[in-house]
Amino acid sequence: MPEQLNLLFTYPETIVDGDGIRYSIYLAGCRHHCVGCQNPETWKAKQGTPLTEEAIRRIVREINANPLLDGITFSGGDPFYNPEAFLLFIKRIKEETRQNIWCYTGYTYEELLADSQLSVILPYIDTLVDGKFIQAEYSPFLEFRGSANQRIIHLK
Ligand code: SF4
Repeated sequence: MPEQLNLLFTYPETIVDGDGIRYSIYLAGCRHHCVGCQNPETWKAKQGTPLTEEAIRRIVREINANPLLDGITFSGGDPFYNPEAFLLFIKRIKEETRQNIWCYTGYTYEELLADSQLSVILPYIDTLVDGKFIQAEYSPFLEFRGSANQRIIHLK
C-alpha cells in the first residue's frame, strides 16, 4: 500500500487555477523548495488532513453535484510528491467525474516523462503546468503561473 496522501484543502469553485470554473484540490508535500515559493508551508507532507475514503467520496460528490464546473485542478505542494498514492487518487477522480484535469508540478514535463513512476500519471492529466518557480523569471502578468519558465502544456 502506498503512503497515504494528505489534503491541505479544496476550493469548490475557483477561476485562478486554470481555464473556467474549477474545483481545486491542494495536496501536501513538495521537495522542490523553490526560492521565493509563495506557499512554503505546503512543503511538509504530514500536515492537513489524511485523504481518507470518506474525503475522496466527499470530493467526488461535490464535483459531480456542480454543473457549473469546467474542470478540476490539482495543486499543492506538488501533487507528484507521492506518485504511487497520487496515481490511485487521480485515476479515481478521472474515472468517477470524467472532468477535464489540470495539474501543477515543480517537475518539468521532460523530467516526468523520464521517470516511469511519474510518467504513468500523465495519461490522466489534460493540461500540465510544469517547472519550478524561478524568482528571476517572475512576472505578475503571466496567466495561471508565476514565472516565465513554467509552461501550460495541453497533453490532450
Ligand atoms: S514546486 Fe511549487 S510548491 Fe513546490 S517549492 Fe516550487 S513553487 Fe513552491
